[in-house]
Amino acid sequence: MFVLKRLIESQVKNISIEIFEKKKELGPGMPYSFEGANEEHITNVSGNEIPELEKSLATWVKALDTETLKRFKIDADNFNGYKVLPRLLFGQYLGSQFRILEKKAKKKGILLTINRNVLVTDIVDDKEQKLIKIISDKIKPELYHYAVICTGHYWPKVHEGAVEGYFDSPYPPSKLAKKINHPVAIRGSSLTAIDAVRTLAKHNGEFVTGKNNRVAFSLCDESKGFKMVLHSREGMLPAVRFHLEDSRLGKGSILTQEEIETNKNENEGFLSLDFVFEKNFKNPIRENDPAFYKKIKGMNMEQFVDFVLSARGTVDAFDLLFGEYIEAEKSIKRKESIYWKEMLGVLSFVMNYPAKYFSAEDMLRLHKTLHPLISIVIAYVPQSSVEEMLALHEKGVLEIISVGHDSYVEPGEKTGAHYTYTNSLNQQVSMHYKTYIDAVGQPRLIYNSLPFKSLVEQKTISPAKIKFRDISMAVLEKEAGNKNVIIDKNGYYLNVPGIAINDNFQVLDEFGAYNDRLFIMAVPFIAGYNPDYSGLDFCEAASGFIVKNILREFGVA
Ligand SMILES: Cc1cc2nc3c(=O)[nH]c(=O)nc-3n(C[C@H](O)[C@H](O)[C@H](O)COP(=O)(O)OP(=O)(O)OC[C@H]3O[C@@H](n4cnc5c(N)ncnc54)[C@H](O)[C@@H]3O)c2cc1C
Repeated sequence: MFVLKRLIESQVKNISIEIFEKKKELGPGMPYSFEGANEEHITNVSGNEIPELEKSLATWVKALDTETLKRFKIDADNFNGYKVLPRLLFGQYLGSQFRILEKKAKKKGILLTINRNVLVTDIVDDKEQKLIKIISDKIKPELYHYAVICTGHYWPKVHEGAVEGYFDSPYPPSKLAKKINHPVAIRGSSLTAIDAVRTLAKHNGEFVTGKNNRVAFSLCDESKGFKMVLHSREGMLPAVRFHLEDSRLGKGSILTQEEIETNKNENEGFLSLDFVFEKNFKNPIRENDPAFYKKIKGMNMEQFVDFVLSARGTVDAFDLLFGEYIEAEKSIKRKESIYWKEMLGVLSFVMNYPAKYFSAEDMLRLHKTLHPLISIVIAYVPQSSVEEMLALHEKGVLEIISVGHDSYVEPGEKTGAHYTYTNSLNQQVSMHYKTYIDAVGQPRLIYNSLPFKSLVEQKTISPAKIKFRDISMAVLEKEAGNKNVIIDKNGYYLNVPGIAINDNFQVLDEFGAYNDRLFIMAVPFIAGYNPDYSGLDFCEAASGFIVKNILREFGVA
């Protein structure tokens, strides 16, 4: 949608655009349709936090018919840009914005063809003609000057279907909409896990809001043995949505090419993670929250992560959730940000684009230390989800277990899974659960899992890898058992998930040469070079790089 919007808004003339969508509707995609949501699932961003579309979300909601408002329990008079909303309703909004764009394209004389219910089965790079061939299940293959792969989320099935009660992901959530009378193991404790929790809770009991506005939960009679056990690294729950001072999370603060190049020149060709941490995290805090800055002034990234995690680690996860809920409520009422948390969101977004220039050492540091913290803090769990989680915990239906890096899950012989981990007393525990849900979020997929096989076979695409700055570090890492450390004629590298791309989201071949006609912004396949937890903000930014590049070829700046 953002690629289309940018092309329509550009000065380019004589362009024809063709969209292939395997479903009957454009807009809701996976997260905002029944593939990724039921009525109980809500967005984690509000209208004022999403990139600008054709009509504001608040204006669109206020014009909805009473039946839709009733179905989604929306009070149109009280709705404003600060509110989150049901994902299925948000999908309808995105669908409506697509339809407006369709009309705009027509008005502008752009030849826009939308192929609904058409699955793209393969993509071929025609090197001789310098064109891209799209092969689908219904339409005669055609050649195009450019192609942008925007296939979104992809959740491969490994054991699901083969083992009863084993779920590789909670999606589509309709598969969890059932009565269960035993404990359920959930791997993960962030937004994906909360999606599973909300569906299971809804179908095994009832939430009631009391006079004091407190939410309580009661189990239904058939589910007396039901409970949910979250398994998370360090036993932590995600942080709660608060008021963002900059609702677009510093989207203007992406490092410039010049800043990146200057820093690379000072660091043997690598962008320094410490530089980005100082520039995009600590510096804004120094200006906007001097009291907090005083506490973290002398800290490097690792020390900062330790500081935050150790403070969280000493408090019971649900007590902390309650404390953060109160803190966030104040932040929202007073319209005052919790600045360091906001800056962590900015840092994650900003790092996404130049992360491919980090050394392998810095990429390992990012994944070991900062990333787990970012995944907790920038989840921004909506208030109503927190209220339900607290009610479930109070009722004894939701608990959390801390599992370390050495924990593992094996599918059961007949049902569910065995969960093995070391507990707080340093004892190894192995539990069998009749129902198991893997809910750690979108898996980062390896390059040859891309469903467009010709691109893999033709070697149009190549696996993403990042060079080590110091060979001795690579050797140490390899000796420690890291199978992703590889050696080629150019040195030591760390293999990271997904395919290699450049800054314009063009695919790179095995020699590092970019393909000027094929772009990809499907997050699961580029997660190695783009490690951010991407949302609509990413879609807007990535589409900007892509369209700018295409327009340049048309002579439009
Ligand atoms: C459960 C969930 C909840 C989320 N909630 C939020 C949120 O609240 N806020 C936020 O900012 N971000 C959220 N996200 C992040 C999400 O990535 C983005 O918001 C956004 O939906 C990504 O858009 P996309 O176009 O890349 O992918 P999608 O929206 O998934 O769209 C991809 C489209 O491609 C189609 N397609 C796929 N393969 C083919 C093929 N071979 N041929 C033809 N068509 C194909 C699909 O049918 C789909 O319509 C969420 C993600 C998930 C998984």
